[in-house]
Amino acid sequence: MTDPLSDAATDAPVAGTPAERGELTDEDAAALAELSEELLVVYDPASGLRWSNRAHRRAFDLGDEEVAGFDLVELLHPDDRARYRDLVRQLCDGGRASVAARLRTAAGYRQLRFHVEVDPDSGLLCAAAGDRSDWLSAQQALWTTRQVLQAILDHATVGIFAKDLDGRYVLANQCFTGARGLTPADVVGKTAEEVFPGEGDVERDRRVMRTGVAHITDEQVPLADGIHTVLVIRFPLRDATGAVIGLGGVVSDITDRVHMEHGLREQERLLDTLVQASPDIVTMIDADGRITEVSQAAQAILGLPPDLVHDELVLRLHPDDLPKAQQAFAALYAQQVPAVELRHRARHGDGHWVTFDSRARPIISDDGRMEGVVVVSRDVTADLAFEAELRAAVSRAEQANRAKSEFLSRMSHELRVPLNSVLGFAQLLQMEKLGPTQHEAVDHILQAGRHLLDLIDEVLDITRIETGHLDLVLEPVEVAPVVRDAVALTTPLAERHGLQVDVDLDDLAPGTHVVANRQRLLQVLLNLLSNGVKYNRPSGSLSVRVAMGPAAGPGAGPGDRVRIAVADTGRGIAEDDLPRLFEPFDRLGAERSGVEGTGVGLTLSKHLVERMHGRLEVRSVPGEGSTFTVELPRAPTPVAGGSLPRPPRPAPASGGAARVLHIEDNPANVQLVAQILQRRGGVRLQAASSGADGLAAATAARPDLVLLDLHLPDISGEEVLAQLHRQPATAAVPVVVVTADATPAQRRHLLQHGAAAYVTKPIDVRELLALVDQVLGTRVR
Ligand code: ADP
Repeated sequence: MTDPLSDAATDAPVAGTPAERGELTDEDAAALAELSEELLVVYDPASGLRWSNRAHRRAFDLGDEEVAGFDLVELLHPDDRARYRDLVRQLCDGGRASVAARLRTAAGYRQLRFHVEVDPDSGLLCAAAGDRSDWLSAQQALWTTRQVLQAILDHATVGIFAKDLDGRYVLANQCFTGARGLTPADVVGKTAEEVFPGEGDVERDRRVMRTGVAHITDEQVPLADGIHTVLVIRFPLRDATGAVIGLGGVVSDITDRVHMEHGLREQERLLDTLVQASPDIVTMIDADGRITEVSQAAQAILGLPPDLVHDELVLRLHPDDLPKAQQAFAALYAQQVPAVELRHRARHGDGHWVTFDSRARPIISDDGRMEGVVVVSRDVTADLAFEAELRAAVSRAEQANRAKSEFLSRMSHELRVPLNSVLGFAQLLQMEKLGPTQHEAVDHILQAGRHLLDLIDEVLDITRIETGHLDLVLEPVEVAPVVRDAVALTTPLAERHGLQVDVDLDDLAPGTHVVANRQRLLQVLLNLLSNGVKYNRPSGSLSVRVAMGPAAGPGAGPGDRVRIAVADTGRGIAEDDLPRLFEPFDRLGAERSGVEGTGVGLTLSKHLVERMHGRLEVRSVPGEGSTFTVELPRAPTPVAGGSLPRPPRPAPASGGAARVLHIEDNPANVQLVAQILQRRGGVRLQAASSGADGLAAATAARPDLVLLDLHLPDISGEEVLAQLHRQPATAAVPVVVVTADATPAQRRHLLQHGAAAYVTKPIDVRELLALVDQVLGTRVR
């Protein structure tokens, strides 16, 4: 906007008055002056207003009498007064000037343009002033509007352009031209064809201008970073009369949106492909519970034509499954549960039932609204049938395994009976005076028989472990005596192999006990020691070292565990063989080495140690030796005391031979025992081959000792024992059980129920003789 005061200019003074120039009479001039809308004044800078016309008086709301002396300068805006004074000074010698100034009128400050003339003679100042306030305000408003529009154009993130009727750009903003690396000045005045050769579509522009109808298009434009998609809105520009004077356009770059929409469509397509390719039925349900989509799998799984799938899906649910399905879905729709899993049936097109495992999850919008549910239903009919078959197969296999174990257990038991005769008679033979060859033969029989016995026992133990029937009573067992016993029993074998056995118990606190089963721990140590001998090298060594240490794992105390390590200097075990070491019957090739063995000792040892809550570990360096370590939990040392040894029975009342009744159905065993007792002498033996005969004989003869087999043809030996104890006549007769049943539970049971002793077959002749001596309380040579 131009400063209203800055265009002040002075003209040269005009000589004479208008009347003198013969142009107008005074009356005419006065009448005209009164008619004028301009403010006309004659002013004396010294004394104020001399005369003013009606327009002036109206503007200042002056009465006729108030005109004289009215001080116009007072009414000038304070900022404009200095200029007024300069002007008066400048014109004091006559002359004209125009000046803009603000004057306070009855309607407030108005912007006036004064044309001033000073009479040099009188010094009077004549002025005509036009009110330019409204014009200036309009100019100001126009200017502001332009500024606003320009700012909008400059900052718009869409391209804006305008063209005249000839298609020349008359306006373009930075956004429009900047995208093409140009400035608005580069395009204004030119046609699109000139600025963007080959791109403009003149006909399209013309159509908009001709029809006066806006037009929207998507266009591809080449920009520096590739082809962009832009949305162009073209619209006609009109003048105040409504005539079309050109064309306006707004251009927005929608490349990202197009990409996004494309990506979304692609994702939708992918998802749809996935859903349709899924072997499971995917069902979409809307917020009102209506099925909106079902994947193709439904047709195949339910044998339905596509048009029926939608409508029939729910109807096909098994009526028994419907309530739980409704309940689950109600909870899902109420957002009480995050998902539901359901097994249900649905009827196939041909009438049979298909079982499904369905999983349903809600579709929740960003603002937490339930928009629907997606359900994935898997046909598990075949899986369930397979599972059932598998279960049946497993059960059959378990049954077969049980049958195998039972067979093995029975067979082992049956084998013990003839072995009893073999070993028993061989022992008797050994006690005879024999030639060296015969002696050697009997030794062989005994050695092979005992080996066979060990094998039977081990097989029996393994079957017991497999069937879960291995009975193991755990109690505090003092470590040092078991270790010493094991070493003492192995030493003869070691010496035969030229080996030395060292025992180191220095790290073991005296009286240390472990939680174990004494007999089984001894069995494990004997097995490790005999392996240490068997698989050692000539003149190698064998050592047993016992130490205490912490258990592996949290909360363990420093001396919670006892480790018994059996180390040898043998051939060692290859690392590749270690995983098979504890497999039953796997001898890792030792069967070709000539070393006797069965391949079950370590299997059994590991099981036994684990049943005692311990661990059996091995470390081996091929060519140097192996160390097997048994680790067992330490037990608190028990308080001394316990059961007292059974007092010897009184000698038979008759000073003659002791009467022994042998209840046994196997004639070979009867004969064996007869021969054993014959060696002892001083015994009169009577035999009974059934439980009933035995009871009758005992009642009648009141023997000094009963030897009782458990497997009798009529009643069990256990029953015979019970009856003997119930009858007053036989209640005091000591009964020694002689049986092939080596089960610890059975032994314990019968000892608790009155058996004086428990001897297992095959009979150890010396053991039986010692026992008979002890029970009868006499020693006969
Ligand atoms: P067996 O000694 O009756 O064959 P085991 O179960 O005791 O059965 O041992 C299985 C196999 O492990 C043996 O056949 C042998 O090959 C190997 N083995 C066991 N102990 C040792 C050892 N101390 N040194 C080398 N090899 C051993």
